[in-house]
Amino acid sequence: MSLSLENCINSHCPWSGNPVSAEALALYRGVTVGFCNPGCRDKFIKATSLFDELLNSLETTRRGKE
Ligand SMILES: [Zn+2]
Repeated sequence: MSLSLENCINSHCPWSGNPVSAEALALYRGVTVGFCNPGCRDKFIKATSLFDELLNSLETTRRGKE
């Protein structure tokens, strides 16, 4: 993992408003995003991976019909 706080695009956790922690970084759409603790990060990853999966399957379905 080469995620570093330097590359993080946000300075504060979107959940709590606390400063981001070097232990709570994630890669999202090719950029590093940060959270105040791993619990906040895992909540984000859980939500985005679910929606990304749903979107992918929707797009696949749509493409199949055309
Ligand atoms: Zn947080």
